[in-house]
Amino acid sequence: MIDDDELAPLLEESAEELYEHAPAAYLSSLANGTIVKVNQTLLDWTGYARDDIVGHRRVHDLLAPGARIYYETHYAPLLQMQGSVREIAVEIVRADGTRLPVLMNSTAVTDDRGRPRVVRTTIFDASDRRRYERELLRARNEAELRARSSLALDHVYEAVVLLDQQGRVEVLNPSAERIFGVETATVTGKPAADVLEGWEAVGDVPAGACPEVVLARHGVQEQWLAVAAVDAGDGVVYTIRDVTSDHRLEELRNELIAIVSHELRTPLTGAYGAAHTLLARGDQLDPGARQALLEMVVEQTRRLSGIVDQILTASRIDTGNVPTAAEIFDASDVVDPLVRDRGEEGVRVVVAVPEGVLVRADLDRLRQVMTNLVENALKYAPGTVRVALVQEPGVARFTVSDDGPGIPASEHERIFEKFYRLDPDQRGGVSGIGLGLYIARELVTRMGGGIGLLPRERGTTFYVDVPLA
Ligand code: ADP
Repeated sequence: MIDDDELAPLLEESAEELYEHAPAAYLSSLANGTIVKVNQTLLDWTGYARDDIVGHRRVHDLLAPGARIYYETHYAPLLQMQGSVREIAVEIVRADGTRLPVLMNSTAVTDDRGRPRVVRTTIFDASDRRRYERELLRARNEAELRARSSLALDHVYEAVVLLDQQGRVEVLNPSAERIFGVETATVTGKPAADVLEGWEAVGDVPAGACPEVVLARHGVQEQWLAVAAVDAGDGVVYTIRDVTSDHRLEELRNELIAIVSHELRTPLTGAYGAAHTLLARGDQLDPGARQALLEMVVEQTRRLSGIVDQILTASRIDTGNVPTAAEIFDASDVVDPLVRDRGEEGVRVVVAVPEGVLVRADLDRLRQVMTNLVENALKYAPGTVRVALVQEPGVARFTVSDDGPGIPASEHERIFEKFYRLDPDQRGGVSGIGLGLYIARELVTRMGGGIGLLPRERGTTFYVDVPLA
């Protein structure tokens, strides 16, 4: 046991110790602000010697300029009015000019007439707290920024995929979900090569290189993708755009140039050769040979104008510039031109179309479609071409049948695409630019009807449905 006599001096000493080395800085000042007492902690924190401060400086002098103004305009008046001020955040300037964020608390000690005699100030180091607040603010800003970037990612047209260094999916935006046909939740954290169909082609694009257009396959579907890859340090960001339709357009343009230049050249050469021979040696030829050459000029120029007409019609269709009438007429009116003026070929066309079936369509356009089908049949099939008409619920159905090579079922839809031909190299020796059926379908659809192929064992049967009047 320590007795009181021993304890008293110890406590006295330790009170002083406590004051000097407390975890807070203490400072006493007069009413005019002059500092009259400080503890060691304050000196340690600020780097001043006791004599630099005590009796020489005012509280005001220790503060950074901003804090000084605040002290003058708020702190001191508040202290005077309330007798105390709590937890005010200011900055103290150290002897070396650096700043120390602190929290200041002051209490005014008054005399018995209520006049302030001395002000006692306790100062806490707020560096940690300030750092914490700054960190909190930074984290909040960062979180907001992230939220905004992810909002932007959700709405960009391009697909964005972020893979980690092991090639696992970290981020996948909605455009990427659409391109790969997946949902973020089911693929995140999994290897892209396993969960994104067609990724092999995309993943082959090296980071940092120029964007590349690659062909990705999803089962039977093909997609052309423009891919740019960027190394993001701890992963790779892929930006992907679906350029399938651009690619298809580009292909179409190339096809158009190739086909048209080839298809125009053949009749041009024929017509030119025949005309040239007539010009150079016409008078030496017998009438039969002259007649044959003249017929050749007519036939080839007819072909040329047919090709030009098809290209123009197709381009008008593409720009939506092909109006179709809704006339009411007898379906049998359509068939006349199918046989007329066909000379020997006309003999091959057998028409079985009853009179008296009234339809609502565009007569000229419907004739154009039927002529095209008959010409195709004459072109691609030897033997008889049969044109028939039957009445079905709501529609009149024309059919054009031949016993030629037929069209495989897998191609029944594709032959209606622009420039699509079963024998693009024309080894069969039959010319054509692959626009006829495309135009036919577009026109029939505009008339409110339909066109397609009926299943056949041998040969081909096209049908054209138009609404009954
Ligand atoms: P083209 O100018 O090549 O005849 P179309 O669009 O009219 O163009 O026809 C497209 C393709 O469909 C043709 O190239 C041909 O391969 C095929 N085709 C059309 N009609 C027939 C038919 N009656 N028999 C066989 N093949 C046909």
